[in-house]
Amino acid sequence: MPSTVGTEPDLATIIQAYNDVTERLKHSHEALAREVCRLREELQWKNKELQRRERLASLGEMAAGVAHEIRNPLGGIGLYASLLERDLTDRPKQLELVRKMSAGISNLESTVGDILAFAGDAELDVQRVVVGKILQDALAQTMPKAETSDIAIEIDPMLLSVELLCDAGQITRAMINLILNALEAVEGNGSVWIRRDDRDVGKGLLRVVVEDTGRGIPPELLNRIFDPFFTTKDTGTGLGLAIVHRIAEANGGSVSAGNRADGGAAFVLSVPLAGYGNETDVVGGHE
Ligand code: ADP
Repeated sequence: MPSTVGTEPDLATIIQAYNDVTERLKHSHEALAREVCRLREELQWKNKELQRRERLASLGEMAAGVAHEIRNPLGGIGLYASLLERDLTDRPKQLELVRKMSAGISNLESTVGDILAFAGDAELDVQRVVVGKILQDALAQTMPKAETSDIAIEIDPMLLSVELLCDAGQITRAMINLILNALEAVEGNGSVWIRRDDRDVGKGLLRVVVEDTGRGIPPELLNRIFDPFFTTKDTGTGLGLAIVHRIAEANGGSVSAGNRADGGAAFVLSVPLAGYGNETDVVGGHE
């Protein structure tokens, strides 16, 4: 009998241990299955992103080729139009026509400039710059439109002294595009806010949010608005946000779009902060 007394607890312990191990195996199997699922989704997303980049790169190359071909003759036409304008000062009817031609030429020149910016032809000039300087330059270009439309642009003062490490000209251009879109979206005397979002500061990125009181972006369009040539405007080129996307990535940041809870769009532009040991990474590191 002593032997059964001795073996019973052993068997129970073994069964318990077996159950524990089975339970743990089940958990780790479930965790592994979840991880495989997550990795598969990540892979699918990365493949899609890669395909998108390849498509954009070849589209950019083609567009840049066409833009270069157009730019030179367009410059000549612009020059001849300005010479004609000078000669026609005493013939108001003809002068009016030539002025219309010149306005058309300016529009074409700015579209060609947009295409080249989207194609990412420009070299990066990365330096330390404070957000205040970028916003000052961006507002110089956007305030006239805000004033004529009676729209207030409110800026979070916390942003101004933050130091970034980026191509200041390019980030200014990205800000201008976001602000102009916001101004175009706002109807009546609404507002545009530019503020800092403190999430993810640990990653060495500043998140600048550009929000407006406009109609917002229909959810089904959210994944299309960064595509080049996608526009819902009668006179839009659909290049503004494609350029912002391109610039954000070239500078080591990102851009995303969403809607505010109480209406209106919210764009988040992330740009590398200075002083995160990224100086050598970024300078000459992109493109
Ligand atoms: P464009 O301004 O020439 O249309 P963009 O690339 O700048 O080109 O914008 C693409 C589209 O994204 C716009 O046509 C519009 O539908 C949408 N969009 C951009 N910004 C906003 C905004 N602030 N509010 C609502 N929709 C926007």
